[in-house]
Amino acid sequence: MTCRAVNKLLMDFFQGKLAQAQRRSFQDHLSDCAECKAMVRAHRKTMRIGKRVFKAHKALPPTQPEEMIRAIFGTPKVTKRA
Ligand SMILES: [Zn+2]
Repeated sequence: MTCRAVNKLLMDFFQGKLAQAQRRSFQDHLSDCAECKAMVRAHRKTMRIGKRVFKAHKALPPTQPEEMIRAIFGTPKVTKRA
């Protein structure tokens, strides 16, 4: 698996959407590639913080949840670089 593929599959990986073989090759790449490993670690940390904020936000009256969630998690973008 290439770094680019890892990047592309990152979200699916965290959401548990990868097929077993795919996940294995994803993890294989991580064990070989310090850069991607660091990226996954950073992502995991960000997601943890995001979840905490999301939880705290649930206790508040729903004024503008959509916007806040988008601000925290970001809008999913598919950027294609040739
Ligand atoms: Zn890599």
